[in-house]
Amino acid sequence: MVIGSGDAAIEEGMFLTKFAGKVIVSVMHEEGKMDCNEIAREEALSNPKMEFIWNTLPEEFRGDEEHLKSVALKNLKTGEILDVPVDTCFLFIGYVPNTEIFKGIIHMTPSGYVITNEKMETNIPGVFAAGDVRDKFLKQVATAVGDGAIAGYAAEKYLAESEVFENQIMDASLPGLVYIWNAVETVSRSLLPVIEELEEELKGRVKVTKVDIYKSAGIAGRLGITAVPSVALIKNGTLDTVLTEISRRKPSRLHFNY
Ligand SMILES: Cc1cc2nc3c(=O)[nH]c(=O)nc-3n(C[C@H](O)[C@H](O)[C@H](O)COP(=O)(O)OP(=O)(O)OC[C@H]3O[C@@H](n4cnc5c(N)ncnc54)[C@H](O)[C@@H]3O)c2cc1C
Repeated sequence: MVIGSGDAAIEEGMFLTKFAGKVIVSVMHEEGKMDCNEIAREEALSNPKMEFIWNTLPEEFRGDEEHLKSVALKNLKTGEILDVPVDTCFLFIGYVPNTEIFKGIIHMTPSGYVITNEKMETNIPGVFAAGDVRDKFLKQVATAVGDGAIAGYAAEKYLAESEVFENQIMDASLPGLVYIWNAVETVSRSLLPVIEELEEELKGRVKVTKVDIYKSAGIAGRLGITAVPSVALIKNGTLDTVLTEISRRKPSRLHFNY
């Protein structure tokens, strides 16, 4: 038995006729009305191995611990219960993602699918989601595998960035200067030698970190900086100042007050 009349139910039901003597389809709609595409509908209705029981929904699955023996179908119009003996039953009446334990913590759609961005990031930094559990257009093996590759890569980047951010940028033992730049922007590139001169000059007194947002915007995001190029000054392990007006003046004339 197959429960449902959408594309998956009817297409999988027809596939099952290759192995089964008969495939009984329980459909909640009026006779002839199905949720699948028209081609599948025509094919299914003319397939002699497909038998339809209209206006019904499953009421109870009956059997013992080991085997299903029959499905009790309820006629939605008359309320009558029809006990249909079956060898097995496939449910195609929608899926419920197993996300209950994350409710109220991770952002989800009303039906419980996890909302992510294209990097598979959820609303919680460091928590990623991949596969059918995500809110997405096509739930298939190919897209689940793609999601997994992205989530794995993004998680690795997140951990590497956390390491730099916590142990280098926000380390309170020395003041820090972070140059936020973009390798594909001319202005950003032209200022790089100025920062490098400054790095040399401040050696041992100020930690200089260069963050290329073309590779990843993660650290800039953690500092809450969107302007590029810009210079962030870190004092006592906290963000002190963000300079966005940077020119190619000599490093000695950049008044960084250290
Ligand atoms: C009947 C049917 C036919 C399909 N046919 C195709 C097809 O022909 N081609 C195609 O590309 N796709 C098909 N799909 C879709 C495909 O199976 C899924 O898109 C794919 O399996 C998604 O992979 P996933 O890893 O995200 O989820 P799943 O494969 O569902 O894996 C999730 C895993 O997490 C486990 N799990 C759940 N909750 C917990 C928990 N709390 N703790 C620990 N583990 C947990 C589950 O047991 C499961 O092993 C079909 C799906 C169905 C139902």
